[in-house]
Amino acid sequence: MQSNMMNFPLLPRHLLGHAAKLYGTVEIVSRLPDKSLHRETYRDLEARNRALAKALISAGLRPGDRVATLMWNHYAHLEAYFGIPASGGILHTLNLRLHPDDIAYISNHAEDRFLIVDDTLLDLYAAIRPHTHFERVFVVSLAGHPLPPGCESYEALLAEGAGKFTYPDLAETTAAAMCYTSGTTGRPKGVLYSHRSIVLHSLVSALPNALNLGQRDVLVPVVPMFHAISWGLPYTATLAGCKQVMPGPHLDPESLLDLYQQERVSVSAGVPTIWLGILERLEREPERWQLKPGMRMVVGGSAAPEGMIRGFDKFGLEVLHAWGMTETSPLGTVSQLKSYLSNLPADEAYALRAKQGLPVPLFEARAMGDSGEAPQDGKTLGELEVRGPWVAASYYRGERPESWSEDGWFRTGDVVTIDPEGYVKITDRTKDLIKSGGEWISSVDLENALMSHPAVAEAAVIALPDPKWQERPAAVVVLKRNHSASEDELREYLRPKFAKWWLPDVIYFATEIPRTSTGKFLKSRLRKIYAEQEKSRLNCPGTTP
Ligand code: ADP
Repeated sequence: MQSNMMNFPLLPRHLLGHAAKLYGTVEIVSRLPDKSLHRETYRDLEARNRALAKALISAGLRPGDRVATLMWNHYAHLEAYFGIPASGGILHTLNLRLHPDDIAYISNHAEDRFLIVDDTLLDLYAAIRPHTHFERVFVVSLAGHPLPPGCESYEALLAEGAGKFTYPDLAETTAAAMCYTSGTTGRPKGVLYSHRSIVLHSLVSALPNALNLGQRDVLVPVVPMFHAISWGLPYTATLAGCKQVMPGPHLDPESLLDLYQQERVSVSAGVPTIWLGILERLEREPERWQLKPGMRMVVGGSAAPEGMIRGFDKFGLEVLHAWGMTETSPLGTVSQLKSYLSNLPADEAYALRAKQGLPVPLFEARAMGDSGEAPQDGKTLGELEVRGPWVAASYYRGERPESWSEDGWFRTGDVVTIDPEGYVKITDRTKDLIKSGGEWISSVDLENALMSHPAVAEAAVIALPDPKWQERPAAVVVLKRNHSASEDELREYLRPKFAKWWLPDVIYFATEIPRTSTGKFLKSRLRKIYAEQEKSRLNCPGTTP
């Protein structure tokens, strides 16, 4: 028998309508290139959203057409997040940190029709322009740069959308937004989010057991709006009606700390690189910033080192470790201590918080070994497979169908253990695992241990080919400013924590670790560089790398 509930479509524009109606005066604050602050309210955002949707339709955008953005985090990007999907189009966020050739490849693959671009990124646009096919390009004036020939003003576009407008009816299952994976593993692949998946993801992300976002919060999404749909935070924060503070292009620790202090920020989100930088800055000048006590920091994108979680606790700031992927909208797991585990001894509690955590409601996870599902014993490794209403069921244009199991679960490529309490722990990505003498070594565990050494700012552990053992671990370490530590000292530091054969054969010191466009260690490049160095070291014994 049919239910008699209304068939009300789950559309992000309803989240904005709610925020504008009930929290209409709550602000969206954006840091502009000159560091001044631009302020608009949810009421303004809703009005501009309407104008943008109307103007895009008048400009000839048809349902399902892609509109690309090349923008930092600020109000206009937020307008695009809502206005493009509300018009029936698809928001396609281009990753401005990629090489221009890659941006052009992605834009052509997605067949973007229009582009909205920051005026501070016009040089980048000029580099991709000859290789892309945008019909119209709208420039957001943030720094007052002149409009280049062939481009139009974003504000003029909005002005064309003035006046009465009724949003088009949309089915909740139609595509609203699109992101490409950043290509850490092969060619970028497109993921299409639906209106429905975005709303469900927002509802669950805001839950107390997940990111715990409410109307009382002030959020700074440091995670770029051009990566993994900014972890869905622009939508979740709007659902919650909380104040949003956008950092613009100023992502250095000092600028962020100033912003946190000035706007009384209660929650912020970003990759560990950002947080390691902030922690180092706080440790150098512990008295300089007065942050809101209990401020939460959502950390994801790569593993949050346990030492970092401990470090922030000393300042009364709480790290909330989360795991996700572009393909999963992205939130999948969050590490919060269950109430009955909250009086565990400190070391055990920290070890749990450093795990990637518990799957959020409606999101299911399993670890698959060679002979079926691995036991949840916290020890047996398996590839993480997931499913849920905000997990991609295919890539755009059906690429790489082998990423899904026969029974329809998405294969993440992450190697995990799941413990009896259900906490998921990532030990590696399949391609980063180190296999020594037939046994697996977790690079993530070694990295975390190294990063808990007081002199170590960052550490990446990679596999190097070895004639006897097939592969052996090598570490690349960046020391903190004005600190020193020798290779032997670091190895001795690791010794009590690991089996002897896990200890890195060699520890290289570097001034920086190469990163992907989203701030993850670029291990493929490290493996190449250090395999070469290792060859010359072995050929010329006595020389230091
Ligand atoms: P890409 O796949 O191109 O790197 P994503 O941002 O989608 O871009 O990356 C998702 C991957 O990032 C996950 O599969 C996982 O390997 C890693 N990741 C995300 N969050 C965490 C985390 N908290 N701890 C460890 N790894 C993480």
